[in-house]
Amino acid sequence: MAVQCPRIDPTAVFPEERLAAYATIVGEREMEDLYRLAEPLRGLEVQQINSARCGGGVAEMLQSLVPFERALGLDVRWDVIAGRPEFFVYTKTLHNFLQGKPRVPDLIGTKIYWDTNQANYKLVREDADVVLIHDPQPAGLIMFVPEEVRARQKWLWRCHIHLSHEYHFVLDFMRTLIEEYDLAIFSSGKFLPPWAVPPTVVLPYIDPLSDKNRDLPPEQVREICWEHGLERLEKKPLLLLVSRFDPFKGHAYAIEAFKQVRKEIPCQLLMVGGTASDDPENEAIFAQLQEQVENLPDVRLLNLPPDSHIEINAFQRAASVILQPSIKEGFGLTVSEGMWKEKPVIGGDVGGIPGQITDGYNGFLVSPSEKGVDEMAQRIKYLLLNPYFAREMGKRGKQAVKERFLITRGVKDELRLLRSLLGDEKKSS
Ligand code: UDP
Repeated sequence: MAVQCPRIDPTAVFPEERLAAYATIVGEREMEDLYRLAEPLRGLEVQQINSARCGGGVAEMLQSLVPFERALGLDVRWDVIAGRPEFFVYTKTLHNFLQGKPRVPDLIGTKIYWDTNQANYKLVREDADVVLIHDPQPAGLIMFVPEEVRARQKWLWRCHIHLSHEYHFVLDFMRTLIEEYDLAIFSSGKFLPPWAVPPTVVLPYIDPLSDKNRDLPPEQVREICWEHGLERLEKKPLLLLVSRFDPFKGHAYAIEAFKQVRKEIPCQLLMVGGTASDDPENEAIFAQLQEQVENLPDVRLLNLPPDSHIEINAFQRAASVILQPSIKEGFGLTVSEGMWKEKPVIGGDVGGIPGQITDGYNGFLVSPSEKGVDEMAQRIKYLLLNPYFAREMGKRGKQAVKERFLITRGVKDELRLLRSLLGDEKKSS
């Protein structure tokens, strides 16, 4: 099924008032730092390229990063490669292998990878100073750059996925490609592969002023819950999992934990997902889960369109406990989104999640496997029975996100990176 993205203008620029509003959250000093860092980069042409305008964490970040950096004077453009469904089946297979899990159909289709990247090469702006490629799908574009263009550009590869090292032949395919780049950026130091390309780590971030995260009036939260058929929260507290329907997100474990909790405490489970145009697995996994919860009361599965930001924001605000029991996770924006809303988040102790949650302090970590089911059920029960503890945990979660996972920090890291990368070559005129 084709995914209809909402209209997103890749040339949008955040207005002054929006930048001023960030200052009220992170402080004037932080914003002044950003202006100062951006000053020598004014006019720098940066092209961001990924494979989906909406759906999933990369699009979520670019939707805010691009207008933010444009407002700071950088000439940032965001382009998205196009491909036939077979291309995205191939790249999702590649993605799954890179996260340590093969899937059927097996790794075939390299030709369609190269053909699609070649066909998309016309997207590349040859006058860009920096080309920033996200994830494996468009990584092959670099092979089609004419030598004289390549010589005057910096090419960066940003890896958002949880790189595992199980399948060497797949890693080798990526290695030879990524070693063509000037720099590779990872979401955690744990994922750094032994490749001959300079690596760095930049942590992802959420935008506190986006529709996904901005404050919402409680009446609107209640109305959205009611519209989607949730029961009164006072009667049945809400457990929530927001994620693409994907094999690594731990939906089945959340259902098992919920079953245990519900035997003792009335509650309801909502699993909200959607799809991204570069992810063909959504429907099959959604159907599988639907079967699994068919005769289970108090569980709802929602497959929402990719622009349901306010709905997701409302569910996160309505939840008593947020679950993200992933088995592999590059970062997991949904964890920071929940923490920002002062919710206790129970996450799989894997990939980028422990970087966000300090176990027992501002959230809980559980084993990323069947073993995690009992642990998760225990933690949920504890949180539901101890609302004061849950509230305090939630407050500490928000503080952690404020300090480390907001977009202002993400922009700062990227500006610093661009400055160090361009060194004396940076445009100062
Ligand atoms: N998301 C969404 N609709 C959905 C499922 C997820 O808008 O149905 C958003 C979610 O709120 C988050 C992003 O997509 O902002 C997912 O990012 P994350 O890093 O958690 O996972 P990814 O999808 O990138 O693996």
